[in-house]
Amino acid sequence: APEPARVEASARGPSNAQLAGAALEGRVERLLRRMTLEEKAGQLAQYSQGVPTGPGTGREGHEEMARAGAVGAFLNVVGARETNRLQRIAVEQSRLQIPLLFGFDVIHGHRTLFPVPLAMASSFNPALVEQAMRLAGAEAAADGVRWVFSPMVDIARDARWGRIVEGSGEDPYLGAALAQAYVRGYQGPSLAEPSAVAASVKHFAAYGAAEAGRDYHAVDLSDVSLRQVYLRPYQAAVEAGAATVMTSFNTLNGVPATANPYLLTDILRKEWGFHGFVVSDWNAIQELVNHGTALSGAAAARQALAAGVEMDMEAHLYGPELPALVRAGKLSEAQVDEAVRRVLRVKFALGLFEKPYADETAVPTEVTPEKRALARRVAEESIVLLKNEGPVLPLGAAVRKVALVGPLADSGVDMMGPWAGRGDAREHVTLRAALERRLKGGLVYAKGTDFLSRSTQGFEEAVRAAASADVVIAALGEEAWSMTGEAASRTSLGLPGNQEQLLAALAATGKPLVVVLFNGHPLTLQGVQARAQAIVEAWYPGIEAGNALANLLWGDVNFSARLPVSLPRSVGQVPLYYNALGTGRPAGAADLTRPPSGTADKYISRYIDEQNTPLYPFGYGLSYTTFGFSAPTLSAKGLKAREVSRQGLEALRVTAEVRNTGPVEGTVVAQLYVRVRGASLAQPVRQLAGFARVRLAPGEAREVVFPLGFHELSFLNSRSERGVEPGTHYDVWVGDSSEAKAHVEFMME
Ligand code: BGC
Repeated sequence: APEPARVEASARGPSNAQLAGAALEGRVERLLRRMTLEEKAGQLAQYSQGVPTGPGTGREGHEEMARAGAVGAFLNVVGARETNRLQRIAVEQSRLQIPLLFGFDVIHGHRTLFPVPLAMASSFNPALVEQAMRLAGAEAAADGVRWVFSPMVDIARDARWGRIVEGSGEDPYLGAALAQAYVRGYQGPSLAEPSAVAASVKHFAAYGAAEAGRDYHAVDLSDVSLRQVYLRPYQAAVEAGAATVMTSFNTLNGVPATANPYLLTDILRKEWGFHGFVVSDWNAIQELVNHGTALSGAAAARQALAAGVEMDMEAHLYGPELPALVRAGKLSEAQVDEAVRRVLRVKFALGLFEKPYADETAVPTEVTPEKRALARRVAEESIVLLKNEGPVLPLGAAVRKVALVGPLADSGVDMMGPWAGRGDAREHVTLRAALERRLKGGLVYAKGTDFLSRSTQGFEEAVRAAASADVVIAALGEEAWSMTGEAASRTSLGLPGNQEQLLAALAATGKPLVVVLFNGHPLTLQGVQARAQAIVEAWYPGIEAGNALANLLWGDVNFSARLPVSLPRSVGQVPLYYNALGTGRPAGAADLTRPPSGTADKYISRYIDEQNTPLYPFGYGLSYTTFGFSAPTLSAKGLKAREVSRQGLEALRVTAEVRNTGPVEGTVVAQLYVRVRGASLAQPVRQLAGFARVRLAPGEAREVVFPLGFHELSFLNSRSERGVEPGTHYDVWVGDSSEAKAHVEFMME
């Protein structure tokens, strides 16, 4: 029977136990006792390659720092030869021979790039993501990197935010399941394995809730929303044993996250029992001065350390300032010791003292056919079919000539997406390359336009190509590195430049039109929807992009991905997410052809010029087959609140039968949603509480069993505590998207 993906709320990850182990603690204490204050501060400092140091820069060179024990970690130093070179200085020439830790932004692959995180979330397949990230970690480790700045688990409800592409979307349940998958993948069964890397869960916290989707901006959030929505994936990651956590740049309710004792001490350490260390984001400690909570770098360093930031990434403050702060009595040495302890713990757990070096003779970073096969499978499970009228897809033998058009049809660099690690654009299979192989002489390619172009010069050639073909495939979207990711927020969410215009010109040929979208923001697709017979949301699919797409477009592989974010109709609806609170008013479907008539019509919850609903909802995605769900049934008539224990993985079971009602084999993502009414606080109109990928032959039916435990049934009450409450009513829906209809209900007594 298909196993629903679970969020392991009670199970402690193996590496968490490792970090808390007594044997390790003894080693940490013995080393700590031998350290000078300067050496302690050094362990808490992280510097980057690429930021000038050495003679004339006012900064010591990396080698001198390593020799003096004045640095604990580097970032952006990659490659076994280079990491070993610096490591040798630290291990052989520094007084205490403490190994360095090398960190790097391994976000969705290292050499073998997988689809971007938002795409991987579309797979609703945590087990597969875990497998992919195990490989990513192993490649990084082979390159001397034992620490990755991933996963980004920031819930993002605002499609304008550029970094939405780096996370798992808008849902805390899916986000929590994926957060654990990344951590397990990177860290493996034991951090001490030479192929394991320490994860850094980021950006703590609520970075994705920046006002108006502007990157780095203030976050003003109730404690209920913080805990109910934003913190859940971080907590899940910590429970899975994440060795490190990275702070975020934003303020949260006025307090910078990088100097926030509530987040870093009260919640992370006291409530969640986190044993690893916290690193600041890049230069974030210095940014406390800009935030206005510190008047100097020294004050910023004091605030950050006191709040619970153990490592300073690139602000160059901890190294020089901490000893002076202790001597001036502004920080106690015990506070510094506690920070050093946490950093050393991770270094010991990684086995760096025993095995400080990466193997320079091995070539495990080569992209082998096996790695490509895995990357292709992840891509195939990450690409969402949004529309298929006709159906125009799958393309069959009758399609002899294909016109391929658009700025993303042949751009390897864009297939990588933002944060491309050590990926190589030339190794990335574009749609053009894949279709040339498949169609031999049957492909005509014309770029048509560029991302930001206003020129229509290329249109004529593109239209000519379209007119000569049986089918037109338009590869459109956003340029990966400049239009998505950090500091790439947008106020408009349409196709950039004149791509919509190009699309109109292609549609005018009357040829069947398939639009394949490569993008990082959820886009507004009304124009595309009006013109294209088929729409494929490919995000940025990674190294096997073209091959995965060709397999899907020709139906060699069936589509199975589902949207991890709602796609808005227009930017004015944003932030738009399915698991919102309701209103006291009926949510009327606006009749946009006439003004409201009469009070009943006027005072409903709606815009006067747009529907409330998304164009495509969370959890949605088509397949080449169809699925039907039976009415769900319950393992018991109801539940007693006092019998739902915090550790309980299963208080009640919901069972539904799902059937493949169409012509071909396919995989459905069966989804379970709940709504709680009668609680001490209003709860979301729906909340995902279970999902499972179910593969079915045509006509085949299977039962899916969703266990509901504390994690699925609980919610935030008026005291900001998670729990269940007697006298509450649960609606449960099971189906194929957040608009699932098959329903059952019960009472929590
Ligand atoms: C980003 C982080 C990243 C860090 C190191 C920062 O600008 O916000 O996500 O890990 O740089 O490159």
